[in-house]
Amino acid sequence: MTATTNIPAALPADGISNHSGQSTENNDDLDRDHLACAFRLAECFGFHEGICNHFSLRLDGEEERYLINPYGTHWSQMTPDALLLIDGDGNVLSGNGSVEDSARYIHVAAHRANRRHKVVLHTHMPFATTLTMLDGDAGKLPMTHQTAVRFHDRVAYESRFGGLAQSPDEGERLARKSSTSATTDILFLANHGVVVSGESVAMAFDDLYYLERACRQHVLALQTGAPLKVIPDDVVKLTAEQFHRDMPAFADQHFAALRQVLLSHPDHHFTF
Ligand SMILES: [Zn+2]
Repeated sequence: MTATTNIPAALPADGISNHSGQSTENNDDLDRDHLACAFRLAECFGFHEGICNHFSLRLDGEEERYLINPYGTHWSQMTPDALLLIDGDGNVLSGNGSVEDSARYIHVAAHRANRRHKVVLHTHMPFATTLTMLDGDAGKLPMTHQTAVRFHDRVAYESRFGGLAQSPDEGERLARKSSTSATTDILFLANHGVVVSGESVAMAFDDLYYLERACRQHVLALQTGAPLKVIPDDVVKLTAEQFHRDMPAFADQHFAALRQVLLSHPDHHFTF
């Protein structure tokens, strides 16, 4: 089935607001729905770049099965049925279209490197990508705003750009960087973009959203030319613990709220 302009198929209202990420009657359908919503929301917030970049989701079960966007479908037009189902070798098991080599190399390797990452979101979103263009520590997100602190101890930086990821080796090289720590969910790719991964669409999308906001705040602060005011380490640690404790519940509520707007008011103009 090809992409259409219809909004993603709506689930019952209680399936939105009460979704907790636990098992449902049909997890695959829910995963499809949420991933399609994530594409549309990411486009609303300007995280997309043309028809490039990919989001992927490893479906539950023993087999390697991934949902991923087909090449050529604009994120604003994504529907649950438009998503491709592929295996670990990139073979299309269902759906119309093809998946870019670089997409499957980056995404399959990322999922394999970290089993807790059910969802892998890769973008060239503007402010996070700006940091990947700065050399050395200047390219690292400092703890200078509370939003940045939610990413404390969760970020890895790949400092070498190796060209377009057109081989499994390059995908695995990038994925290795995010598997060196059990707490890494965010990977900055030098001269390229970011990979944000999580245990659910809601968790990963929440991080994607707030990562771009944190990077925007940092870039704006840099533009003043004034010295940065770094949060003391003990306060960073305390604040990070507060964030990490509440993030799953907050992420579910944030995503449900965004999704509800998308479904009930498809012409709503989101601001960022
Ligand atoms: Zn990319």
